[in-house]
Parts: sequence; C-alpha cells; structure tokens
Amino acid sequence: MPVPVVFHPATRLHNPGPGHPERPERIEAVLAALRAPDLAATVAWVEGRLATRDELERVHTTGYLDALERLARGGGGALDADTVMSRDSWDAALAAAGVAIGAVEQGIARGAGFGATRPPGHHALAGRAMGFCLINNVVVAARHAQRLGKPRVLIVDWDVHHGNGTQALVERDPSIRYVSMHQYPWYPGTGAAAERGVGNVFNVPRPPGLAREVYVRDLLAAVDAAVAGWPPDLLLVSAGFDSLAGDPLGGFTLEAADMAQWTSAFRARVAPAPVVGLLEGGYRLDLLAAGARAHVRALA
Ligand SMILES: [Zn+2]
Repeated sequence: MPVPVVFHPATRLHNPGPGHPERPERIEAVLAALRAPDLAATVAWVEGRLATRDELERVHTTGYLDALERLARGGGGALDADTVMSRDSWDAALAAAGVAIGAVEQGIARGAGFGATRPPGHHALAGRAMGFCLINNVVVAARHAQRLGKPRVLIVDWDVHHGNGTQALVERDPSIRYVSMHQYPWYPGTGAAAERGVGNVFNVPRPPGLAREVYVRDLLAAVDAAVAGWPPDLLLVSAGFDSLAGDPLGGFTLEAADMAQWTSAFRARVAPAPVVGLLEGGYRLDLLAAGARAHVRALA
C-alpha cells in the first residue's frame, strides 16, 4: 500500500539565518529522497493545508501565538539563542502544523502516513519557543486525532534530544502516552527516567556511543511497557534523524536500517492502530534523507 506523504511548500520558507543547522535544505533533502524513482509506487503525495488558529490554540496560548505572528510580520527576530524567526516563519509554522494534521487524517484513513514537518516541534512549550521549534506539531496532531475519534494516542520520539515540550504538554493527561529515547545529559536537560508524568511518560535517557542494538532494544522495551494493557488508537512517531551515527548534534550510533526496524516493530505492536511519522530533527542532509526513506518504506 502506498504511504501518504503530506507536504507543504511553505515549510521551506522558514529561514533562521546563515550557518543555522535547521536550514531550508533539510526539507528539500527529505522530499527529494522520497521522490526517488524507486519509491514512486511507495509514496502517495498529498499537499497539506495551513493549520487554523483553533487547532493551534488546543496546544498553545493565545498570547504566544500572537507574539509569534507579530514577530514574523515585523520581519523576524530571535526568540532565544538558537530559535529565530524570519518574515515567512509564521506561514511555515502554520504549514508544519497543518502537515501534521493532514498526516493524521491520511493515516487514519489509510493506516499509515508521514508528515514532512518543518520547523520541527518537540521542544515547543505552550507559551515558549525553544530548540528550533515554534509550534509543537506532534501534540497538535495528537489533539486533532482525539477529535477524530482516536482517544488514546501514543507518541514515540526517537530524536536524539528529549522532547521536553511534548512531555510538558501531555504529562498531566493520561489519554496520551509519551515514550522518548534521547541522549542524556544533553540538550535540553530534561528527560530523566524518574520523570513519569501521571504514569504516562516513559523516558529512556542514554549516553552517546553505545552499540546501536542497545538503543534499538531499549526503545522497544519502553514501547512495550507503554502499550502493556493500554492499546493505543493511534501511534505518532516524532521521527528525528539526528539520532543517526554521524549527525553533528548528537552522539548516537543508529543506522537508517534501525529506524526501519523500529517502524515495523511499532506497527506490529500497535496494530490495528494507524502509525504516523512526523519529521523532527536531523542535521546532516544525507543521513536525514536516508533515515526518512527507510522510515517511509517501512510504513508502506
Ligand atoms: Zn533533535
């Protein structure tokens, strides 16, 4: 079955400035990898729409959204040391959240989906941008899924950084479970195993440089713990490809084949629930392309 891949041209427009690792070429690398001729029968392209204000306000405060829009419309500026908006960043943020929503709709209709989201989202808090992230796309997607009749949502985050924003947004809500494996201690500093939310948070903090099969095994064990007695209605994967060996912002040793293995293993564990991947980090273009390709093939 072809996998719906949801994209939006505006995700390219966000430009945090020269030399910034979260650059527009990232989304181009992902889309180009998925446009390869040998994937023509694997990928069904779907252009997404912009998210609405109501959809964002399920996750973020009105004042924060107003401030983001105002900053971009005024020409852009820095939100913190590494999170910067350009004039078109607000449109890109609406597009990324809309892509996440579209990927959920496609995934529910067709069993699997992938959203080419940029800027990434998992560090964004209800009222604060951080870590290159403006809108928490995966939580916007989870809230949308719940309104579409998928009450239990599992989020699995394999980005090399802890998704502090995602955790903060769901940690008091037992209808969403969050599993994250991440380098620790490392940016942003959160994600200790003792952070359990209301029993719905499953953190797997790990040092850099372990054998890749250790990371593969340990994240699967955490997913097993999260779904034991709690079959989810939807799995959202925060697919960050900065956990691949060689990424400049992380020290994990994973290969693209490991992400394919995870994707297949997760699908088997949550079946018949749909599985939807959303792009988070990944800062070496060739690795990002290989990882996205492996993940989408495994969704097919
Ligand atoms: Zn990351």
